Amino acid sequence: MPIRTKSMRSRLTALVIVAIFGAVAVATASSVWREAAQFGAGNRADLFASANVFASAISEHVENGDKAGTLNALRAISYIPSIDYVRVEGIEGELFAELGDTQSAEKYTQRTISENSPLAFFTAQSASASVPIVVGDETIATLTLHAKTGSLSGRIGLLLYDALVAAVFAGGIGVLIALKMQRAITDPILSLVKVMKRVRESGDFSVRAEQVEDDETGQLVETFNTMLDHIQERDARLHEHQSNLKKIVEQRTQQLRNAKESAEAANMAKSEFLATMSHEIRTPMNGMLAMADMLSKAQLAPRYKRYAEVIAKSGQSLLAIINDILDFSKIEAGRLELERIPVRPSEIVDEVVSLFWERAASKNIDLTAYVSPDAPEEVEGDPVRISQVLSNLVNNALKFTEAGHVIVAVRTRNSKAGEAANACTLEFSVSDTGVGIEQAKQAAIFEAFSQADQTTTRRFGGTGLGLAICSRLVEAMDGEIGVTSKPGEGSRFFFKMPTSTIKPPRAIRRAEPGKRAVISIGGGATAKILARYLGEMGVTSNIVDTYEGMGSQLAFADMVFGSAEFFKSYQKVTDNGKAQWIPARICICELGDTAPDRLLEAGVVEDILLAPLSRSEVVDQVGRIFDNKLRGMSALQGASAPDATSTQFNGQRVLAADDSAVNREVVKEALAKLNLDVCLVVNGREAVERAQAESFDLILMDCSMPEMDGFEATQAIRVFEKRSKKNPVPIVALSAHVFDNENWRQCGMNDYITKPFTLDTLASIIGRYLKPSQSASTLRELTAEVAPSVEAGVTGSDQAFDRNVLDQLSAMRSSGDDLAVRTLRLFEEHTKDAMRKLADALRAGDNEAIAMAAHALKSMSLNVGASGLSAACDTVESHARKGATQSVLSPLCKNAAVEFRKAHKALPALIDELKKSAA
Ligand code: ADP
Repeated sequence: MPIRTKSMRSRLTALVIVAIFGAVAVATASSVWREAAQFGAGNRADLFASANVFASAISEHVENGDKAGTLNALRAISYIPSIDYVRVEGIEGELFAELGDTQSAEKYTQRTISENSPLAFFTAQSASASVPIVVGDETIATLTLHAKTGSLSGRIGLLLYDALVAAVFAGGIGVLIALKMQRAITDPILSLVKVMKRVRESGDFSVRAEQVEDDETGQLVETFNTMLDHIQERDARLHEHQSNLKKIVEQRTQQLRNAKESAEAANMAKSEFLATMSHEIRTPMNGMLAMADMLSKAQLAPRYKRYAEVIAKSGQSLLAIINDILDFSKIEAGRLELERIPVRPSEIVDEVVSLFWERAASKNIDLTAYVSPDAPEEVEGDPVRISQVLSNLVNNALKFTEAGHVIVAVRTRNSKAGEAANACTLEFSVSDTGVGIEQAKQAAIFEAFSQADQTTTRRFGGTGLGLAICSRLVEAMDGEIGVTSKPGEGSRFFFKMPTSTIKPPRAIRRAEPGKRAVISIGGGATAKILARYLGEMGVTSNIVDTYEGMGSQLAFADMVFGSAEFFKSYQKVTDNGKAQWIPARICICELGDTAPDRLLEAGVVEDILLAPLSRSEVVDQVGRIFDNKLRGMSALQGASAPDATSTQFNGQRVLAADDSAVNREVVKEALAKLNLDVCLVVNGREAVERAQAESFDLILMDCSMPEMDGFEATQAIRVFEKRSKKNPVPIVALSAHVFDNENWRQCGMNDYITKPFTLDTLASIIGRYLKPSQSASTLRELTAEVAPSVEAGVTGSDQAFDRNVLDQLSAMRSSGDDLAVRTLRLFEEHTKDAMRKLADALRAGDNEAIAMAAHALKSMSLNVGASGLSAACDTVESHARKGATQSVLSPLCKNAAVEFRKAHKALPALIDELKKSAA
């Protein structure tokens, strides 16, 4: 509340002055009153006393009626200065004598003596007294005196003057007192106000108002000061608390920092530990797996071969588990880095399907891909991680499905409103017809080490880490993973990921209206998806199981997609001249399947489409039908399976550095198997020395080695090459570590192979840098190579048969009977049968029968020195025993068939020749 000190001060002064003047006025009025009263009373008493004296003095004259004497006496009285009128009246009121101013007497007589109040005196300025004149006891007359009292107002005037002087004096003193009082009251208040203002403006609570008196203002000041004390004290406490808090916060922060640092250190240690572990575990596993791999490919008694295969297979499973654990720990440690590069969703789906194709085929499960037409051609993402998740899901689907199908699909889901124009959400899904998962257990399976059913571990194996890794990876991609499932019916796992489109979906080519297709392939899901693709292009499809009774359907079809079996039935009809080849005929076959070759040759089919079907291939194929550009025989160019295990190099020189003796042994064996000339060293320093002294076609470099590690050695070699202007030799890191970074590339390495490796991976990576020999080229090239020589009727004996063996046989001839010719005849006769058995076994997918047939064929060929055929059969046998799938065996068998044909073509000429020489 604002204090108006000015008005308070003036009000106080005015109050004091009014009080003083009031007091003086009241005092003056009362003195005037008292003076007047005293004056009136005194005059009256005097007047009455004088009147009585005069009455007795004249009583005699009046008694005697002596008017003259009376008048004389009265004259004496009238000499008294204040008396101006005297009269004597008789009893009856008749005038006896009179003296003085009669006029004033007239005035006076109208007043009675009782009216002689102080006020009357004050106003009248005169007084009168009447007394009786008594003789004896008898009143004989009345004497009346009039006197002037005029001096009373003068006296009062004087009195008032005195009062005024006194009042002025008292007023002066009053003002002085007021000023003094004012100072005593307002000064402390003013100083208090000043102090308050200062406190308000500066926030300094240490100032105090000065306490002068011990009165109310003093108390006010004291209270204010106490209040300041409290505030200051509270401030001090707050300040202290604050600084304490600061200290505590600092302390805690430090503690947290320490904890964080030690956690980071622990994490680092964990990562280090994992890295070391991975190295330590992978190093011996490398030895184990590579050796087991080679052992299983070696010529062994079936039982021992089986042992080796079990070791190799178990090793691979163990490796998969270790990889899972490493992956999971890496994700947990936050060391997962995602790439954002262009990805083709359809390619990822196709790759994953191809990867699991053999496994699905071996379980007789129809594995197929569906790429929706709305899926963009190219998006941004991490292809490795997307494949990893998808592979995991497909792996599970195949694991938990005994019969039926597994469909891997990708489609787009509606993007949310407000997103960028090129934003899209992709959904990958894997549906199976497997065991399914109970609703209650569906959420838990995405947690680490959890499995829906304890019995699954026993039945199917697994660590329970797969889905946890998937879920973490999808989370890292900002996506979501989920499952819908019904026990006994199957499951559908899906994951959605937000991404941005780089290339929109390919425009779909539409068929002219009314186009029809007939589809007849084994595998319901594949047929349905093919029908769907065709439907999207405007072609109506009809799915049929077998050829039987389909003649009329076919008559109306524009195109037929069928299996080799289907077309074989079809062929019989045409052979009978019953059918007309109107529709376009596409054979759907697997990679390496030889049946379509004959159908193509015979003109039964016009093109082939490889399973697993990919959307783009189907679209291209239908495009060729629309354009009437079916490929015929040239379709075979892309249909054979490359076989990496048969890769052979040309004896190029490879330097391999590894500190572990076992690993050196493994590398030596493996490289020798691939027909490479290997030179071994035990550390990086030696590798550098050898690389400087000799020239190599490739260097395999272990990463962690004593003395000088692989990275340093690579750098040294690169420096040397630059200095001596040599072409850089390809250097491939060989490491038990799974690389998290690009260290290997930065120090100049070209590639890396993680241990443990298989012969296939080793061959395929080396194949990127070194040219394989002709014999390792694909089967198609091989056939192409062999065919002309066969057709030209060249005596292939040198190629097909080992003359030494035949010569030895000839040497063993007994009388007239050339053993060589006889054996060759037997060979000609029996191998046909064996070859048929092999083909049947292959078709039936019976590995045991394939191995037996191949074995029989091998023994027969060895006997006659048909080395090409025996080697081919040996490969078939060993692969069949190893449990290789049809798609692997098929090209191998085909190879054997080529050798078989080669030998048979050469036989007549050879027999003739032997006969001639015998003769
Ligand atoms: P793992 O397969 O190694 O046990 P996962 O994390 O991949 O571990 O899977 C966890 C569990 O989820 C499996 O043990 C199984 O019970 C269930 N599961 C996963 N996929 C399928 C599926 N396609 N069909 C049925 N159950 C499945």
